[in-house]
Amino acid sequence: MIRVLPQNLINQISAGEVVERPASVIKELVENSIDAGATQVRIRVRDAGKSYISVIDDGCGMSPDDMVLSFERHATSKLKEEDLFHIETLGFRGEALPSIASISRCSMTSVLKGQGSAWQIHVEGGKKSDLVPASLEKGTMIEVRELFYATPARLKFLRSDAVELNHIIEIVQRLALAHISVGFHLENEHRVIASYLSDPMLSDPYARMRDVLGADFVKDAIEIEAERDSIKLRGLVSLPTYHRSTQQSQFLFVNNRPVKDKALVSAIRVAYQDYIPLHRHPVVLLFLTVPPLWVDVNVHPAKTEVRFQDPNHIRGLFISALKHALHDHSHQATNAITHRAIGYFKSPASYESKAQPPSTSLHESPTSKPYTLDLQLSPHYSPKPLNVSQETGIRGSVSSHSATSMITFIEDRDHDQTEEVRGFLGRAIAQVHQSYIISETAEKMILIDQHAAHERIVYEQMKKDMHANRIARQALLIPDVVELSLEHVTLLLDYTDMFEAFGFIVERFGSSALIVREVPAMLKQINMKEFINDLLHEIKEHGEMVSLKERLERLLATLACHGSIRAGKKLSLPEMDALLRQMEETPHSGQCNHGRPTYLELSKADIEKLFERR
Ligand code: ADP
Ligand code: MG
Repeated sequence: MIRVLPQNLINQISAGEVVERPASVIKELVENSIDAGATQVRIRVRDAGKSYISVIDDGCGMSPDDMVLSFERHATSKLKEEDLFHIETLGFRGEALPSIASISRCSMTSVLKGQGSAWQIHVEGGKKSDLVPASLEKGTMIEVRELFYATPARLKFLRSDAVELNHIIEIVQRLALAHISVGFHLENEHRVIASYLSDPMLSDPYARMRDVLGADFVKDAIEIEAERDSIKLRGLVSLPTYHRSTQQSQFLFVNNRPVKDKALVSAIRVAYQDYIPLHRHPVVLLFLTVPPLWVDVNVHPAKTEVRFQDPNHIRGLFISALKHALHDHSHQATNAITHRAIGYFKSPASYESKAQPPSTSLHESPTSKPYTLDLQLSPHYSPKPLNVSQETGIRGSVSSHSATSMITFIEDRDHDQTEEVRGFLGRAIAQVHQSYIISETAEKMILIDQHAAHERIVYEQMKKDMHANRIARQALLIPDVVELSLEHVTLLLDYTDMFEAFGFIVERFGSSALIVREVPAMLKQINMKEFINDLLHEIKEHGEMVSLKERLERLLATLACHGSIRAGKKLSLPEMDALLRQMEETPHSGQCNHGRPTYLELSKADIEKLFERR
């Protein structure tokens, strides 16, 4: 016996897809407001939306007839062309209002633009009341009380208020980033949570980003601007030294629609994987614009997922645009860190009581040790490009104090004429704590972490070898047989060339196994079965084998770490200079393989600020 389900049950079923939590209600209502041409959207919630949600806008409003109709399933004013591939509004399915109203106590007050009178309608568990006159100056107000009261089982899936509120904030932020001409205001129990001013003329595209993501991020972020075959990608991404513990700060938009797309998120991971510490995530704000025909937005009831006609093409563009941008900025560490450094560089006077005079200069009291830095100067140092010998270089007053020679020496460097041999990391001056190098340019003083820096250099060299197919292979004494399913063997055999490029010789062995005859010499210890299973997993998830390369690069990173200069090794000045020159030629040398910065800079101006000369 087949029976047609009652309308309200159908709506509740669809509510199960559209309304997962209070934040989804807010998403649908705010999207409606934006579609209605609102310039101001006010959102109020109580109990993180569980007991009360209201969304008020100043959009076009609705006629009384439309108000009644809007709660009918599949009733929409938006799909005019009857063409699912030219959708310019955020909504189009006509499902949100009837779904929300089937599981809550809902009311709508609206006044059609140009008409004087407002009307109100109540819908409880899907049952509509009659329209009654109401008072509202402009636009539409929707109130949703006791969400899920009609489906108590779903109520149990809600999380704590803090978690639910967090989801709400995230949704509002996403929509706010995409619609900067609209002002947003969010309150929970009369506490203002977010307030973003509207910018109707779009006069400052960065203002909203600063409001939502913080001025720090926007100031330091890398701008992305890429275009290929009518696909555009623009936005801001963080320098690799600026990262977060979750992906919540990754904002992706496809044709200005906030989306959560696994493939794009994994593309970000791939682009950053060389630079960022494991389990950390960059902050990303990216707008992808593609011709409407290339993307299907109608794959998910909540419209947070999209399907691309050619996902690999998009993914490729994404990865290469990000990699290029990161590469171009790879010598840069975040300013935020340098600013923090300024905080660390305090004058000794600021720790001590103000009554004491500022510490005396070195040569006035050679026996006291006001500075505890362990400055090392190689006695063997004779600077190649310098014609002045160390002795003749020493000018000025004093003496045999150990630090004095260094100070004199720095003065001497000012007169150095061989400007052209210096790169942006300048000239090494000294080593501190046998771990850090101090160098200077005309404008800056630079502090370099020798281990982190060398690690990056070694790693990039190894990667170069890998890409030039110079990976040394080693035959296994006993070839490794890995049992797999027929399907998996077939899948992996497509990648034989790639395996070989990375130093693995893999062949078919019977119908359901692979035999591994050779492996990269540096990976002798690898557990092939685990490795192959992980690869399979990733091929299935991402549809391609990005991971073999990724994995190898991670292994290389580990190897590089072991093969690099340790902190604690004493270096001579020529060694230090050589390291700096190598750093300048090495891509991505602003960060070590673990995403830590390799150097910090203090500009002359910063130094002057520290000494309150500015
Ligand atoms: P959809 O947005 O997919 O069309 P909804 O169920 O969300 O479906 O809304 C149904 C219709 O109600 C919309 O097409 C629109 O005409 C009208 N509507 C909803 N919210 C508003 C609003 N805030 N202002 C004006 N019209 C609205
Ligand atoms: Mg809608």
